[in-house]
Amino acid sequence: MSNAPISDTFAQQLQQMRAELIAQIRAQRGGKVGRAEAALDPHEVQSGDWAQVDGERDLAQALDERETAALRAIDDALQRIADGRYGLCVDCGVEIPTARLHASPTTLRCIDCQTRYERAHPTATPSL
Ligand SMILES: [Zn+2]
Repeated sequence: MSNAPISDTFAQQLQQMRAELIAQIRAQRGGKVGRAEAALDPHEVQSGDWAQVDGERDLAQALDERETAALRAIDDALQRIADGRYGLCVDCGVEIPTARLHASPTTLRCIDCQTRYERAHPTATPSL
């Protein structure tokens, strides 16, 4: 399995989105998110599913649903990069156009499948 250079670009972009999101949450909450932030150490993400790290419970308490979903979407995307599956539609397997990934690096689906998904689940996808 090899990571194409394009994945490196998105990995950097996703890491930055993640850092900005955490900084934003921290700014809103004061020091409250400290333990959650520790639980979200990038090294944990590289080595596996962060949802299974010890800090998960703290994280769930520190973040609201939307923030958790946003962070999870970013980490899922990073995991897909690590697995070499990034940029492939989870529903039909087609390569998602790079322009779409640039606009929304956490996107899981091609436009057709996303449209279908959003019709089926109108409130399921948080917009980042
Ligand atoms: Zn698709």
